[in-house]
Amino acid sequence: MIDIHHIVKETKELAISLRQALHKIPEKGFSEIKTSRFVADHLKTIPELEVTTGIAETGVLGLLKTGRPGKTLIIRADMDALPIKEETGLACASTHDNMMHACGHDANMTMVLVTAGILAKLKDSLSGNIKFMFQPAEEFPGGAKPMIEAGILENPHVDYSVACHLWPSLPAGTLGLKSGILMSAASLFDIEITGKGGHGAMPHMCVDALDTAGQVVNALQRVVSRKLNPMSPSVVTVGSFHSGTAPNAIPEKALLSGTTRTFDRHIWNSYAEILEPVIQGVCQSMGASYDFKFMPGYPPLENNPDMVEKLKSSMIKVVGEEWIREPESTMGGEDMAYVFERSKGCYFFLGTGFEGCAPLHNSKFNFDESLLLIGVETFVQFALDLLGKNK
Ligand SMILES: [Zn+2]
Ligand SMILES: [Zn+2]
Repeated sequence: MIDIHHIVKETKELAISLRQALHKIPEKGFSEIKTSRFVADHLKTIPELEVTTGIAETGVLGLLKTGRPGKTLIIRADMDALPIKEETGLACASTHDNMMHACGHDANMTMVLVTAGILAKLKDSLSGNIKFMFQPAEEFPGGAKPMIEAGILENPHVDYSVACHLWPSLPAGTLGLKSGILMSAASLFDIEITGKGGHGAMPHMCVDALDTAGQVVNALQRVVSRKLNPMSPSVVTVGSFHSGTAPNAIPEKALLSGTTRTFDRHIWNSYAEILEPVIQGVCQSMGASYDFKFMPGYPPLENNPDMVEKLKSSMIKVVGEEWIREPESTMGGEDMAYVFERSKGCYFFLGTGFEGCAPLHNSKFNFDESLLLIGVETFVQFALDLLGKNK
């Protein structure tokens, strides 16, 4: 019987040092140059792994072949950081101006790096293969899809997938797991409205792009409340509005941009057709023209019920049932959804919350590093339960 808990406990110093080193070098999506080199260098210290770099620019893949026939599991971490000025005051704070691992991807990477080392040592107790995926640009614009297009889910073909994210909304030390849709589909849109500029005192000689855009923003807020099924949660947010330069001039142009969220695949696929008539109707009524660009983003992230059941039984061995929570689904997006469309996937949260803690994407976000071992132990236990030699 392998004493997983003991093996994982022994990696505490390694985990903390990896996390702190990664925390110091946060980089933007598809610019994870130092991060990707750090990840690859660490994976190359594990002799059992085949390491491939430069996948979809900065992506890295470690492959562990046990030499025994069986299924293939992929364990994913995301590598990118956010353009936020860190204010944690930590000794390992960001050394890059206005960049910070404020979403905890330094932690996500650490857990997968430590897990890779442990599972490589336990290779003789496993069958099949395990891939360790380090993807660029999870926040934006998405590195999972180009990594899939580069072939990471084949040779050997990936059957199962798993990923973990820190979650400060759950109490520290808990694990969050839920069947079905956990995260939303997320898309972006831009609207450029064109009217006819002129003197602020003579609106009848003009077509006011700013006023039209204001009405478009209001009308778009009716989409969720009046056009979509209330049983299907959805969001339309206009997050930026630019128009005008002078207090006494009516602007010719107004630029809007925003995001849509939904758990429903059908709505996700038809959001552009739902929004456009609203924009078109308002602009037409005011005599303005428009250019509407809709950029479909990540699909909804859906946990496979069989995988949830299996992962839950592994989690019970690690933390006990009383430390497992069913989190609320979130309107946040996650491009691991593309991997889940092609394999049986399961995504879980590692609770890091404490009284007064900062949320994700906040300049003061931080967590207790010893919690990383819970994530590692969950990955290791799950891999052994799923791909144990006698499975
Ligand atoms: Zn994030
Ligand atoms: Zn994140």
